[in-house]
Amino acid sequence: MKTDLLQTPITYLKGVGPNRAQVLQSELGIATFDDLLNFFPNRYIDKTRYYKISELERNAAEVQIIGKIIHIKTVEQKKGRRLVAKFIDDTGEMELVWFRGHKWIKEQLQLNVPYVIFGRTNWFNGVFSMPHPEMELLSSHEQGLRIHMQPIYPSTEKLSNKGITNRVISHMVQQLFAETRGVFRETLSPDVIGELKLVSRSEALFNIHFPQDQKKLARAQFRLKLEELFFVQIQLISKNLLRKKKIRGLPFERVGEHFNTFYQEYLPFELTGAQQKVIKEIRADLGSNAQMNRLLQGDVGSGKTIVALMSMLLALDNGYQSCLMAPTEILANQHYNSLKEIIGDMNINIALLTGSVKKSERKGIHESLEDGSLHILVGTHAVLEHKVQFNNLGLAIIDEQHRFGVAQRSKLWHKNDIPPHILVMTATPIPRTLAMSLYGDLDISVIDELPPGRKPVKTVHRYDTNRLKVFRFLKDEIKKGRQVYIVYPLIQESQALDYKDLMDGYESISREFPLPEYRISIVHGQMKSEDKDIEMARFVKGETQIMVATTVIEVGVNVPNATVMIIESAERFGLSQLHQLRGRVGRGGDQSYCILMTGHKLTAEAKTRIETMTATNDGFEIAEVDLRLRGPGDLMGTQQSGLLNLKIADIVRDNDILKTARFYALRILQEDPDLALEKNLPIRQTYAELLRHRNIWNYIS
Ligand code: ADP
Ligand code: MG
Repeated sequence: MKTDLLQTPITYLKGVGPNRAQVLQSELGIATFDDLLNFFPNRYIDKTRYYKISELERNAAEVQIIGKIIHIKTVEQKKGRRLVAKFIDDTGEMELVWFRGHKWIKEQLQLNVPYVIFGRTNWFNGVFSMPHPEMELLSSHEQGLRIHMQPIYPSTEKLSNKGITNRVISHMVQQLFAETRGVFRETLSPDVIGELKLVSRSEALFNIHFPQDQKKLARAQFRLKLEELFFVQIQLISKNLLRKKKIRGLPFERVGEHFNTFYQEYLPFELTGAQQKVIKEIRADLGSNAQMNRLLQGDVGSGKTIVALMSMLLALDNGYQSCLMAPTEILANQHYNSLKEIIGDMNINIALLTGSVKKSERKGIHESLEDGSLHILVGTHAVLEHKVQFNNLGLAIIDEQHRFGVAQRSKLWHKNDIPPHILVMTATPIPRTLAMSLYGDLDISVIDELPPGRKPVKTVHRYDTNRLKVFRFLKDEIKKGRQVYIVYPLIQESQALDYKDLMDGYESISREFPLPEYRISIVHGQMKSEDKDIEMARFVKGETQIMVATTVIEVGVNVPNATVMIIESAERFGLSQLHQLRGRVGRGGDQSYCILMTGHKLTAEAKTRIETMTATNDGFEIAEVDLRLRGPGDLMGTQQSGLLNLKIADIVRDNDILKTARFYALRILQEDPDLALEKNLPIRQTYAELLRHRNIWNYIS
C-alpha cells in the first residue's frame, strides 16, 4: 500500500461528505485517512466474558453476568419509586434496579429463568446493583450472533448532535479498512518486532479498532503504545546525540589545584556515595568535547550545593569563570554566604550580584568579571542583564530551574561563542518516568541519598480546631531553644485575601506568643526586599524564634535550628509545594516536625495529598502521586503539557513500556545514529513522516 493513500483527505472516504469532514476536522482533528486510522477507541465493551457475581469489583465496570431473578419488589422513596429485583447466580446475589418503566418491565421479567444481563455495576451498602441492565434470556442469547468487543470512540456533544455517533465512526473505520485493504506499512525494524514478539502494525491497527478478544486487544495496545513512545524517544535521543556531536563544548581536561586542595583540606564533611557518583558524572561531561547539559535532581537537603561548588572549581582549574543563579534574592544570598563559608581562606574570588547590590559595587563586579579576576558570580536574574559580561564563562549553574524559563536559560547560553556547560539543579523531584520523557535531551543525575545522621521529619495532620494544642507544642519546642516556621498560602489570584489571612494569623500568633519571651519575624511578598532580608537574617541568626511567612521561604532556605514547620490551610497547597516546605526543617541533628493544619472539610484529592505527606518523606514517591493526581501537564507547567497529546500511551500507567521503548531507541541510535542501515529503514521513514505530518511532535522544542 502506498503511504500517499493515507494522506487522502477524509472527505474522499465513502460516507464522509464535506459536512461531516468539517465536523471531524474541527471536533477531532481528523483531516486525513491516516488521522482516522490513528483515532483509537478509548474503551471497549467486553461481551466476550461472563462474570460471576463473586468476581465483581467495586470499580463500576461494565460486566455481563448469567443468572436468574428470584424476587421482585417495588421500593418507595422520597423521590419516587424504584423497582428492585434480586438476581442470583451460583456464587452470590445482587440487585437489578429500575427507576422508570416499572409496569412494562414487571410484565416482561420472568422469575427463575436464566438471563444474561449487561450493564455497569454499583457498590452501595454492601450490595452490588446494576441500574437499568440490558437483559436477554440465556436461551435466545445462545442462538443470537455474538458481538465481540465493541469499541467506544471518544466523542463530543457537537459530534453526537451532528449525528456522528459511535456507530457512524465505527462504520467509517470499517470503510477505511475496506478501501485500504487493511494493509499498512511497517514502522518498526525486524529486530524490535522479533525481540519483543510484537504483532505486525496491520494486525495491531485492526485489533485496536475491531478486537476479537481481550488477548488480541492487549497485544495490539502494547504494540501501538510501544511504537508511540518509541518515536518520542527516538526524537529526544537523536536531539541529544546531535547536540553532543554538533555543539562543541569547552574541554575541562584538568583536575587541578583548586579542586584537589578543596577536596583534601576544605571539604567540611565526607561526601555521600550519591554525591561522589554525581561529581564523577559531571567530571566526565566536562572533560568530553561536548557541551554539558545536565539536570541534577536531589531532594531538599541532599547536598547539591557542594556538588555545584566542586563543579565550579573544575571550571576554575581550567581557567574559566562560572556563575550560580538562584530564583530569589534570599536564596542567592544564602548560596553566596554558604559558598564563602565553605571555601574559607582559599584564594578564590567570588561575588554576589542581585537587584539590591549598590551601583558603585556593581561597577566593580562588572569590571572584575570582564577582566577575568572574578572567578565565581552568584546571583539572581540580575546576572542575565546585558551589562553583565563575562571574560570567559565556562559553567552556568541554575538552581531550582522551574522558576527560570527556557528563554532565560538561552540568554546565558549566548554570552559566549562556545556555549558554557550548563548544570540545572532542582529539588523538585521529577518522577523518573517523566524526566525520561520530558528531559530526554538532557542528561540526568540524581542524588538519591541524604547525608548521614538525618532524622526523618515527623509529619502529622491537625484540624484547625486543635490549634491550641499545636501552640502548646510550639512553646515546648521553643523552650528547648528551637525555631519554628508558620506558613500561609499564597495564591496569585487572591493576593489581597491571602495577605489578610497572613495578617490575621500574625496577629493571633502575636497574642499567643507575646514579647518579650517570644520574638516573631514576618516575611511576605508585599514587603520590600531589603526588609525581607533583614527579617530573614534575624531568624537565621536566631534572634527571632518564629517565622511567619508566605511561601517565599519555600525554596532553599537553610536554618538547621528550625525544627517545626506549620503549614496553615495545607489543603490549598500542592504536593510538591508541601514537600518543599517540609524540607525547610530536619536540616539539623534534632528531631523535626511538620504539622499540616486544615479545616474539617476536605476534598478527596486534598485528603490524598495530606495522607501522602504523612505517609512518606520520599520526594520521588510524592512526585509520582502528584503526577497521578494532576497529570503531567499541570505538574510541569504549561509548556510541557504536549505529552498529554499522546494518542494511546500514558506515561504514568505505561511506565514499563516507556522504559522498553527507551531501551530500544537508545540501542538503535547508538548503533546507527542516522538510521541509515537497511533494517532501520522503516524507522527512518516513519520518523521523517511523523516530523512532516504530525504537529504533535513539535512540543519537543
Ligand atoms: P540542597 O540539596 O537542598 O541544596 P544543601 O546543599 O543545602 O542541600 O545541603 C543541606 C545541608 O546538608 C547543608 O547544611 C550541607 O552542609 C549539609 N551536607 C551536604 N552534604 C553533606 C554530607 N555529605 N555530609 C554531611 N552534611 C552534608
Ligand atoms: Mg539548595
